[in-house]
Amino acid sequence: MVEAYSIPVTKIERSRLPGVTLENIPFGKTFTDHMLEADFVNGEWKNVEIRPYQPLVMSPSLAAIHYGQAIFEGIKAYKNEAGEAHIFRPYDNYKRFNFSAARMEMPEVPEDIFIEGMRKLVELDKNWIPALHDHSLYIRPFMFSSDEMIGVRPSESYKFMIILAPTGPYYSAPMRIYVEEKYTRAAPGGVGQAKAAGNYGSSMYVTAQARKKGYDQVLWTDVYEHKYVQEIGTMNVFFVIGNKAYTPDLSTGTILAGVTRDSVMTILEEMGLQVEEQPVSVDMLMEAYKASELREVFGTGTAATVSLIRELRYKDFVMSFDTTQWKVTPEIKSRLDDIREGRVADNHGWMFKI
Ligand code: PMP
Repeated sequence: MVEAYSIPVTKIERSRLPGVTLENIPFGKTFTDHMLEADFVNGEWKNVEIRPYQPLVMSPSLAAIHYGQAIFEGIKAYKNEAGEAHIFRPYDNYKRFNFSAARMEMPEVPEDIFIEGMRKLVELDKNWIPALHDHSLYIRPFMFSSDEMIGVRPSESYKFMIILAPTGPYYSAPMRIYVEEKYTRAAPGGVGQAKAAGNYGSSMYVTAQARKKGYDQVLWTDVYEHKYVQEIGTMNVFFVIGNKAYTPDLSTGTILAGVTRDSVMTILEEMGLQVEEQPVSVDMLMEAYKASELREVFGTGTAATVSLIRELRYKDFVMSFDTTQWKVTPEIKSRLDDIREGRVADNHGWMFKI
């Protein structure tokens, strides 16, 4: 961290916080008083500043809105009972952000802008972090190409920003999931491993089709045979089969390497469950289900934390679960919440103090 680097701050005249109810605040609709902004121009980062949250003025020819050279991250900050604020594993998201940047032919963002900028912004708006169970401050760093030019080529200028949104519980009810066997999210050699904006844009139609059939989300499958499961919406997926936990391995390059996924693998092992990262086929899941060995299914992600899945449907085969009987998934969630909300010691070095 570059201590000497000082980001100029223009503060809002009067905070909007007194007019906001933080308890059960819906995800992603309310933003804090300030935002961070930086520009990449002529090969260098400049104009780094924190200022009041406000609309951007943009040209209709802005490259990002035509060709989608845009990436983002999702991170959370928590407040413990002593009122101290911590960010959960920001360096992991920082690395993933620059991985996405490289894949999208965008410049890397330096640590003193990404990490120090985030720390300073969260510190400034820390009164917006709800000190309530299952609540947090969602941090959204993002970058987009900002050339005013509609030629198809990498942009020469980029804008990096961070905005903050207080948030309550994300998905409350256990979910019904449709195993997708027509459309695909990502192919080997594509951008599935990057947090590129277009990955989400292209998922909307498919998710909407599943919603019409009464499902909350789709579980994506591989591009060749629609046989190997990948991930769900904005979550990685885990299956408890017998005494082991299984999650799809990342070697295909089609799955986002979730920070929550990595944390959950550590916690599962601490709970005494062996974790297998390997290809997971729908056949394997159906066999395990028929043998009453498929015990629990859950998704993991920053926004949702850990989401219980009460139904998985593949073609006409329905796998349904009585989630009230589950032991593993609720324990993972409570162990993770205890660390993040500061009720137990952080033995993993996951909490970054503001
Ligand atoms: N997969 C996808 C496609 C996602 O967008 C996310 C959310 N970032 C995840 C998995 C989970 O990643 P993380 O645990 O880092 O939030």
